Order: sequence, then structure tokens, then C-alpha cells
Amino acid sequence: METKVILTEKEMPTSWYNIQADLPEPLPPLRHPGTKEPTRLPPPLFPEALNEQEFSKERYIDIPEELQEIYKLWRPTPLIRAYRLEKALDTPARIYYKYEGVSPAGSHKPNTAVAQAYYVKKEGFKRVATETGAGQWGSALSMGCMFFGLELKVYMVKVSYYQKPYRRIMMETWGATVVPSPSEDTEVGRNILKKDPDCPGSLGIAISEACEDAFAHDDTKYSLGSVLNHVLLHQTIVGQEAKKQLEKIDAYPDIIVGCIGGGSNFAGVFLPFVKDKIEGKKPDLQIICTEPEACPSITKGPYTWDYGDVAGLAPIALMYTLGHTFVPPPVHAGGLRYHGMAPIICHLHKLRLVEARAEYQIPVFQAAVTFTRTEGILPAPEPAHAIKVVIDEALKCKEAGEKKTILLALSGHGHFDLAAYDSYLSGKLEDYEYPEEKVKEALTHLPKVQI
Ligand SMILES: *Cc1c(COP(=O)(O)O)cnc(C)c1O
Repeated sequence: METKVILTEKEMPTSWYNIQADLPEPLPPLRHPGTKEPTRLPPPLFPEALNEQEFSKERYIDIPEELQEIYKLWRPTPLIRAYRLEKALDTPARIYYKYEGVSPAGSHKPNTAVAQAYYVKKEGFKRVATETGAGQWGSALSMGCMFFGLELKVYMVKVSYYQKPYRRIMMETWGATVVPSPSEDTEVGRNILKKDPDCPGSLGIAISEACEDAFAHDDTKYSLGSVLNHVLLHQTIVGQEAKKQLEKIDAYPDIIVGCIGGGSNFAGVFLPFVKDKIEGKKPDLQIICTEPEACPSITKGPYTWDYGDVAGLAPIALMYTLGHTFVPPPVHAGGLRYHGMAPIICHLHKLRLVEARAEYQIPVFQAAVTFTRTEGILPAPEPAHAIKVVIDEALKCKEAGEKKTILLALSGHGHFDLAAYDSYLSGKLEDYEYPEEKVKEALTHLPKVQI
């Protein structure tokens, strides 16, 4: 029995899969943050090709050849059978994981980063501006821009800039310019610093700075690493590969599990499979999205219209949200601290095609350590949420004597998150209760949208 299913470069998918071609009901349109009327993405911010992909109904969109060549540096990624984890759990379930930690940045994020950089370059722009929290997105995009000779300016949340220097150094090594946000380089930043020189920054402030930068420079585009339809689209190369790999060994998942921050890595894995569920080929396929108990957008948030960003500059989307002004507790899974969720995932949840679960961080790290001590890979805290659910499901299979096939979306490794592991191993990690009062307060600031 093989442990790893490998695809050759020739077998790598040559198009992205667009779920919008197969949705049983179309996605509700985005709305303009000012007028509240249906809108496209703010055109000066994004390359036109991405604006088209955002609303396209074409089922398959070709991956440009130049881009395929770059993907081949780390793709196709392996699909691995977790024999050692299965054995430790003594489960009859078969567990497979699709591992994106083999990319140079250590996660799935380069799949869209290089694609976005490609279109910026192709449309004749010279520079990109973006925000980053702990640095996962900033590092993926730094690499993307490096491949296409683009300048990149990264506004990095100030606390992370000083507390987590390694990703910053990685970004700078790839050639990006990184500044702590709030910065003196934008109007938004200067105004905040005037009032509060010690402001620790937030993702919301950093987004506003990056957008202002892109609006202010004709040669510059803005780039976002999750949530938007075109980002999820680029990630579908992952799920298409996984499907081919499972076909090779005559397997098909009964359960697919992944973590959702903005939703891109997991959507990338499950969208090619949800197609089969919609078409009735695999009606009982279970798709489980996992999120932190401290930031439970789908499991606790209402399905309503809200701004995509804290500043209220981004389009308004119909989604599960905790309110755009909500600031979640500082859980270590930095990538899962977004107030809302990708509209595509919310829509599929509303249609009952996917389900969601929330997990506390201590049991999540416990699951991560079990995984490290069986499979050898030290996972990022984000996909560790999914590992917790995979272990729960595998143990259920043991009790029921069921031989289910489980597919785990393992979005990245945790080599830059060792402080979090240290905190868990030394017994200092805390669980955060769902901050109900703070969410209630944030939900009073939802935009008023009349339909
Ligand atoms: C950023 C990140 C996430 C969360 O973002 P999604 O868009 O939900 O995928 C998950 N895992 C890793 C490793 C990340 O870097």
C-alpha cells in the first residue's frame, strides 16, 4: 500500500474550476459600500482579469502557461495517507491529507499570490500594495511579486511586525518593502498616529492603508489573499489534484474537513467535490468547515449584509458575520481571525451543502501535537482546527465500526508558529470563550441594506 500519491507535472490541472457555473442558485451580488447598490469590485484596485474572474460563470478558466511553469516549482503537491495517525487512533477510517506546506512560503497562499501578481504584470502595472497580519499572506505575495519583477509594499500590523520578525525577514529577502501599520506613509496611518502614537495596529487599519496606497498610485494595484471569489477560484487547483490522486487509488472521500479563516484553502479543496454532491453523484458527502470558538463566524454569526473590511471601504457582501468592527481574542491561529467569511462558502452553507463546527484552541493544539507525533509534520495552528475534527470523526468511525474515507485539507506547516506550540507545551495556553457581548455590540454597526 502506498503512503504518498504523486502526480507528475504533466498530470497537473491546467484550468481552475469555477463553482459559479454549477451553483443551484446564483450568488447574491456584492453591494457598493456607499450607495449599497449591486456593484463589481472597485475597478481601480484590482486588475481587470481578476474583476472578470470574480463574476465569471465559465466552468473552467485556463491557467496561463507562464503561471503553470511557476506552479510546477511546488505542484502537484502530495496526497498522503495518515497510516500512523490511523494506527494511533485505532480507527478503521482511512485518513488522507492534501499537504500545501511544501510550497516555498509554507502554505496554500502562493497558489493565488503568483496568479494575482501575474495579472498585475500582464496589465502593465509595476507595483502592488497589500496588508498582512502575522505575515503568511505578505510572504506568499512577496514571492509572487518577485517572480514577475513587481515592487511590493506590505503594511504589516505593528504588533506582529515587532513580535514576529521572521516572516518580515522572509518578505524582505524576497525583495518586498515592509512597514509597520499604522505608518507615516498614508493619510489614514498619519491620522491614527497623531491621535495614538502607540497604536498597535489591526488588520482593518492595514487594509485601509494598502487600499489608500493603491488608490494614490496609478502604477499600483491592491491584492487580497482570501474571501473573494477569484481567490477561491485560484485555490481549486488543490482540490482538482486531490480528486485525481484519489481516483488513482480508487478512493473517494465520505468526509472532507478543513479550516476556514476567509475560506480560501478549504474551498480550494472541496469545491471540485461539492460539484459531485450538487449533481447527485455523491449526495451523502459530508463537508465540514472548522473555525475557532473565539471567532465563530458561521456557527454563531447571523447571515446578513456586512462590509468586507473594518474601515467600511470594501464592498458589502451577504455572509455570516460577527460584525466588521468585531476584534476577536488573540488566538494563535492568526489566519482564522476574520469577522466574516467567503460569500461562496456562506451561500453553500445556506444551501446545506456544507456544515460548520467551532473548536477551542487547547484541544486544537492537543490534536496538532498528536499529528506531529504520528505523521511527523508540525501543522500550522489554522489547519490544526481541522485535525481536531478529523480525529473526532475517526474515533466515531471506531465506535461505529465504519470504514469511512476522510480527506483533510492540510493548508500549511507551523514552523513560524513555534511560540504558540511553546505556550501549549508549557501549559500556558488559554481557551477563550465566545465573546458574546462584543459580537452583540459589533452587530449594531451593520450597514443598512434594502433589497
Ligand atoms: C491564511 C491561512 C489560513 C486561513 O485562510 P483561508 O483563506 O481560510 O484559507 C489557513 N491556513 C493557513 C496555513 C494559512 O496561512
